[in-house]
Amino acid sequence: MQIQTIGVVGAGTMGNGIAQAFAVAGYPVILNDIAQAPLDRGMKNVDGSLERLVKKDRMTADAKAAAISRITATPDIDALAGADLIIEAATENLALKLDLFGRLDGLAKPEAIIASNTSSISITKLAAATKRSSQVIGMHFFNPVPVMQLVEVIRGLQTSDQTYTAIEALSKAVGKAPVQVRNSPGFVVNRMLCPMINEAIFAFAEGLATAQEIDDAMRLGCNHPIGPLALCDLIGLDVQLAVMQVLFEGFKDPKYRAAPLLVEMVEAGYLGRKSGRGFHSYT
Ligand code: NAD
Repeated sequence: MQIQTIGVVGAGTMGNGIAQAFAVAGYPVILNDIAQAPLDRGMKNVDGSLERLVKKDRMTADAKAAAISRITATPDIDALAGADLIIEAATENLALKLDLFGRLDGLAKPEAIIASNTSSISITKLAAATKRSSQVIGMHFFNPVPVMQLVEVIRGLQTSDQTYTAIEALSKAVGKAPVQVRNSPGFVVNRMLCPMINEAIFAFAEGLATAQEIDDAMRLGCNHPIGPLALCDLIGLDVQLAVMQVLFEGFKDPKYRAAPLLVEMVEAGYLGRKSGRGFHSYT
């Protein structure tokens, strides 16, 4: 099947970035969220992100306008019936995603592929919530989507070769570098990245160094482009916690226990950049 129209569910941090990447590559995109407000915020982000490219002379104003015109933002989930591929990028919550996959399966074209951008949830489990399990796959983009090259393409137990090949080719067509990964808690990157961030939170909580010093140490000592606590703020503390919980549940290994300070900061609503406060302040 030729993948032409892309549906994106969730217009948050990742969803609007995914919509932007496909629209810039020339694909019509249907962007869906539960209400108009998150859609407006998502489209404002896309506009701001493309405007920065125009200001740097890396995109023309016409190309920006054309990319934005390719995105149809709608709270009507049924609009996704027109998509050849639906990429789910809604909140990281198993019950929510299982419900969503059942609904998307009911409304999508029979030949459409349904992908999830989940950071950690089992693709096999999400596929089992549909009647098209061989056409379900993980497409794990990285933040910020328009900039980061990697897409982990995650094969659930049921994912067909045909589905994998189509998604691998599409990822390359939008300028991304796909890496094939077998379904497993946290896949490859988050299995390693999130425990490292978790350890940085333990170190911070124990008073080993300030947040800035921990970030500087990892930037300057390991050549990381961004320190682990600043990265946690970028990812979202709630997302980081959700991934640690999936690793802990999935492997039943105490080495994946979430740092208590992370749990408490999420309870306080300190979610990082998106809430204005995390390990650093963004006001
Ligand atoms: P976010 O909180 O920024 O956005 C989630 C969006 O989903 C919100 O706008 C919310 O209104 C919407 N939503 C919730 N329920 C919905 C529903 N039923 N239908 C339509 N929209 C719905 O979250 P995010 O950081 O963009 O994460 C989205 C997904 O991407 C998660 O699965 C997350 O694990 C994954 N992910 C996140 C990152 C990251 O760095 N933040 C990186 C890779 C993958």
